[in-house]
Amino acid sequence: MRSVSGDEVTVSRSAERSAENESTFRAANEGIEGKTSELVLSEQQPTPYLCECEEERCTTIIRLTLGEYESVRAHPRRFILAPGHESPQDRVVSEGERFTVVEKTGEEGRLVEAHDPRSSEFR
Ligand SMILES: [Zn+2]
Repeated sequence: MRSVSGDEVTVSRSAERSAENESTFRAANEGIEGKTSELVLSEQQPTPYLCECEEERCTTIIRLTLGEYESVRAHPRRFILAPGHESPQDRVVSEGERFTVVEKTGEEGRLVEAHDPRSSEFR
């Protein structure tokens, strides 16, 4: 007999793992932003960011301006990926030459929102 509850645990763990992985990359990118904003950079100057896809070993660099990055980060469920790095369950928000913006859905969306470094700030 097949255990339905066992399957549910597996699915939820995998969503949690990819959410954590993506949140790690996003935290790294938050750090990049912190450093670059100390430099004298124009808003139009593209800054290197790490691809925020589910592949742990992906170190693809995407260049986008601080304004572009900020407009994506205004949404806790949205991530910036190198073109073609989206996973089948991602909802593609916009696709450009340099980067793709996706929105996480379902369980994963809920988890990444909970992991958002900005929503955990006590201010
Ligand atoms: Zn990637």
